[in-house]
Amino acid sequence: MSTACAHARSEPPAPAWVRQSLSLAETRCAEAGQRWTRPRQRVFELLVRAGGPVKAYDLISGFGQDGAAAKPPTIYRALEFLEGLGLAHRIASLNAYVACQAQAPVHSASFLICDCCGSAEEFDPKVEAAAEAEAVRHGFRATALALEMRGLCRDCGG
Ligand SMILES: [Zn+2]
Ligand SMILES: [Zn+2]
Repeated sequence: MSTACAHARSEPPAPAWVRQSLSLAETRCAEAGQRWTRPRQRVFELLVRAGGPVKAYDLISGFGQDGAAAKPPTIYRALEFLEGLGLAHRIASLNAYVACQAQAPVHSASFLICDCCGSAEEFDPKVEAAAEAEAVRHGFRATALALEMRGLCRDCGG
């Protein structure tokens, strides 16, 4: 993630939003009959507090509150779990992860990615029906659609 841009947001996410996201995640986890383990909780918290895309490498190095790094498999397993519950998404073109901003049930997410400040806003491109119809024409049975749109966010002059 590029942070060299002068428009990069400096204020962290609101504490109330962080608390709400964490409690929602814990509920979602319980409803799925899964355990909200310490690594899952910590990785999710790091994503929520970052307020934007985070590289797995930064999750590994920032894992321990005492500055100790985590073992990479711990982080990747936690990320896989969070993705499976729809609590986090992988942004392929950035090779980074982001906490779900929609607080919706499991879904494939699309993003507006700013090339200037590196922010990624989850959005609904509203093209799913058209894309699916086109896929059918190709004899393809679609299960998910995810768009990653690049450009400039409103803070950066979009
Ligand atoms: Zn989402
Ligand atoms: Zn921007």
